[in-house]
Amino acid sequence: MAKILIIEDEKEIAELEKDYLELSGYTVVISDEGQNGKKEALEGDYDLILLDLMLPGCDGFEICKAIREEKNIPILMVSAKKDEVDKIRGLGLGADDYITKPFSPSELVARVKAHLQRYERLVGGGTRENKVIETRGLRIDKTAHRVFVNGEERQFTTKEFSLLTYLAEHPNQVFSKEDLFRAIWDMDSVGDIATVTVHIKKVREKIEADTSNPQYIETLWGVGYRFKA
Ligand code: CA
Repeated sequence: MAKILIIEDEKEIAELEKDYLELSGYTVVISDEGQNGKKEALEGDYDLILLDLMLPGCDGFEICKAIREEKNIPILMVSAKKDEVDKIRGLGLGADDYITKPFSPSELVARVKAHLQRYERLVGGGTRENKVIETRGLRIDKTAHRVFVNGEERQFTTKEFSLLTYLAEHPNQVFSKEDLFRAIWDMDSVGDIATVTVHIKKVREKIEADTSNPQYIETLWGVGYRFKA
């Protein structure tokens, strides 16, 4: 869950904000002074900053500017007067939102939630990666449902793909034909454990350079199969 820093010198307001945000499941830390608050915001690992404007030590304008120079986490500025809000907007310090006191706690929580979700989309959107299993030239892209051997794509049926992925996700574990049949084929499907042998053979033909000397899927006679990591 997201971690929020409240920089606010009015204890009652800080506690109120903290209570409501904690009720919504967030982890909350309070800093009641400007310099310490700025330091904490810059050095700590926070997902959002709730920033009061008038603070002892260092005001909210300066803190907002300092955070923005280093981080792009959402900053919600809180101020007592409407005209201060106008001033903040005019200064263009990079705050994401402005809340005037007194505010309703539910409105505060709603805005915090919205900004965190937006931020998550921004940050998460570009970095989402396909789930890939890679072993000695064999590349299984689980997300795209594709298999490559030394960079060359091989066509797999759904069951072959499931079988290979299942073995590769449990490297060095031995599975009997019964285990594999239970894991990959649903019980209602037509077939028996001989299906497993047939599919192992097909998978090997697609990934192994020499099927008589398999490098990925080993046979342990009388026991089952094992994927070599
Ligand atoms: Ca204040």
